[in-house]
Amino acid sequence: MKITDLKCAVIASSPVIRITTDEGITGWSQIETPKPYLQPIVLQLKDWIVGQDPRNVERVMRRIRVRGGFKPFGSAVSAIEHALWDIAGKALNAPVHRLLGGKVRDEVRTYRTLYHREAGVGHSPADYVKWAEFGKSLPEGFTMFKLPTSFHSSMVADVPDFFYGSVQTDAPFPYPHKGVITEDGMKYLVDCVTAAKETLGTACGLAVDAGPGYMPQDALRFARAVEPLNLLWIEDMITGDYSPYVNHDVYRDVTHATTTPIHTGEQIYLRQNYKHLIESHAVNVIGPDPCDVGGLAEIKWVAEHADLHGIAIAPHGTANGILGLAALIQVCAVLPDNFIAFEYPARFEPFWYDITEGFDGVPVKNGRIAVPDRPGLGVNMLEKEARKYLTEGDTDFFD
Ligand SMILES: [Mg+2]
Repeated sequence: MKITDLKCAVIASSPVIRITTDEGITGWSQIETPKPYLQPIVLQLKDWIVGQDPRNVERVMRRIRVRGGFKPFGSAVSAIEHALWDIAGKALNAPVHRLLGGKVRDEVRTYRTLYHREAGVGHSPADYVKWAEFGKSLPEGFTMFKLPTSFHSSMVADVPDFFYGSVQTDAPFPYPHKGVITEDGMKYLVDCVTAAKETLGTACGLAVDAGPGYMPQDALRFARAVEPLNLLWIEDMITGDYSPYVNHDVYRDVTHATTTPIHTGEQIYLRQNYKHLIESHAVNVIGPDPCDVGGLAEIKWVAEHADLHGIAIAPHGTANGILGLAALIQVCAVLPDNFIAFEYPARFEPFWYDITEGFDGVPVKNGRIAVPDRPGLGVNMLEKEARKYLTEGDTDFFD
């Protein structure tokens, strides 16, 4: 079997990848919606993979891995890897989880990151109570939620003198703020998080996405102040989302001085860049994204390495469509026992269920998803329906 073409169309801001073969099998995958600008980067890789046998996934990846980097630049390489597994599975009439070693669980737990605008609230303790109530009212029955706050939210701008830095309004990437948090800012933050956790109760887990942007002394102050809340983790305080580096030694100093689990890693590309973080026990939980770290086989390798070192894993959610969701489910079924839950890619339009076949509707029940045994990643695009969402310039996507 040989790869005959690689195409990429942007559907609702999500780059969708289509790899075709000379045996009529097509592989599908997607990159999250904030990254439509990766379309040309995906297409640049076409000449590097056409003519290769897509079933030799690692052999193809060895040709293109050099073209990736930390978030967002690992996405193109990672998503191509997902599509290769999709083809390899379909060629054998087997689900991808079987090719990755076989599922060790029949259903996977997923957690919900809930943005304040979804709940129609802002950043005050009373708002955080409403935030938690909204989460508990969702029909999917999630048992874990993630709360964006402080530097990972508009709290930085909405709460006067939250920190000693200045608010930036013109940064071309998310979460540009960094600096020392004021005493009142820290108290406000702790009051808000406490209000959310007390409303959720002990039957629901709460993780907090907080950065990047903290100085380590503030990271430790915050982590210690919320110790009685038994949070699942605090994420990305020091480095994280879109940081092109790791700073594992700074994380290690914080992690070893608090009982609150410390988490990072969604921006990290490749196992090699996890090495110091894992081997120095610099965090308690890692959150690689299968569509940023280098692919499904890559995240499994990182998960096993973390498990050897007593570190848990909660994969970041390749957002914004059924193809990304399908890839997360397949790989999370094969991760070792350090797997907690993956981030549910909740923010996509319902039309995704109309333009694909595989899932008949939201598959989450009681915060879990049954692992499908359909071939490949278990999803196909429906050309007739999906064509309606192609934009000018992408109209040859299905040709
Ligand atoms: Mg995050």
